[in-house]
Amino acid sequence: MKPDDLCPHPPQFPASPTEPLSAPIQLSTVYRCDDPQQAAELLSGMQSGYVYRRDDHPNAYALAEHCRQLHGAQRSAVSASGMSALSALLLSQLRAGDHIVASNQLYGRSLQLLTQETNRLGIDASVVDTCRLQSVEQAICNRTRLVVVETITNPTLRVSDVAALAELAHRYGALLAVDNTFASPAVCRPLELGADFVFESLTKIMNGHSDVLLGLLCGHDRNWERIPCVLTTWGLVANPLECWLAARGIGTLALRVQRSNCNALSAAKHLAASAKVRTVLYPGLKSHPDYPLACQQFGDQFGAMVTFVLEGGPAAATRFIRAAKQIPFAPSLGELCTTLSHPLSTSHRTMSEHDLGHLGIDGGMIRLSAGIESEAFVHAALDEGLAAV
Ligand SMILES: *Cc1c(COP(=O)(O)O)cnc(C)c1O
Repeated sequence: MKPDDLCPHPPQFPASPTEPLSAPIQLSTVYRCDDPQQAAELLSGMQSGYVYRRDDHPNAYALAEHCRQLHGAQRSAVSASGMSALSALLLSQLRAGDHIVASNQLYGRSLQLLTQETNRLGIDASVVDTCRLQSVEQAICNRTRLVVVETITNPTLRVSDVAALAELAHRYGALLAVDNTFASPAVCRPLELGADFVFESLTKIMNGHSDVLLGLLCGHDRNWERIPCVLTTWGLVANPLECWLAARGIGTLALRVQRSNCNALSAAKHLAASAKVRTVLYPGLKSHPDYPLACQQFGDQFGAMVTFVLEGGPAAATRFIRAAKQIPFAPSLGELCTTLSHPLSTSHRTMSEHDLGHLGIDGGMIRLSAGIESEAFVHAALDEGLAAV
């Protein structure tokens, strides 16, 4: 054959009686079918298999299946980002006229999606302090279909009482969805506590290497009917290469969480011992308002996030961040290395003075995401920051 004819022809993969131990990356957007009948059966779901990547592909399946097992879920799906996992949840479960009760401490973009974007579709939300069950109950009305909270919130690291919230939502015929990004299934499995859906940004702790943007949605058979259709019709599909990378990251999830959580507890105690630190917020410290709930819900792992407030306000925070050169100021979380964030200038920059005051966020507040370095390294790195305050 001439190059003109040979070049466009798809290459043949060699047959082998053995299978690769590491999963292949399957980038193909389309699969070759035997005949029209097979194509029709695959596309309608009568036969299982792949035809077009937006509908499903092996790397998404493998990652979703791994996550399904980690959450003890009946069903799971991965999507292009944490935000698209929340979008899939809303688009599959709600319709115009429905009402949502959302935590006032949700991730900023989640709040924006729940209160502004969905509003355009005729869905409205009440934003309340979901740490107070009474406030949740007061906000519920006969149109309420969904309650949305985070397992551990940013930056004050409040813990949601998942079992109590699930009981409350169910009593009024609503579903409970939990954003478990700050915990990961290595710390908390909300479905086992009664939640109807759990969603996560796999971008953070789950992948753990700051090189992937992906989301996860897990739930029960009974609520799953519309989800595959929403994912493919709204085009929320995950990229195979990113799925493959996240699957590799998850290989070390348990080890990373164990080490980073130890470092977080140790850093929290270390910071609390400094006269330059006014407050330390960590659910694994007895001083945290949710310590008893965290022990009951999480056992002995309390997450990798530690928030602290410096005496000396915003100027002190800036000096700390500039001086702590061993800890990148990188406003995300769940990386291999310890990182710092400054809520007032990053995640919470658009929040009103009133809401900031209500949540107790000020310019002296720094949030640490503990990495997997040695405890001594983290202490020394923090001391460099503290010395400059
Ligand atoms: C990052 C984050 C999200 C959004 O996830 P993306 O993958 O960035 O879309 C949602 N919730 C929480 C708590 C997050 O930290």
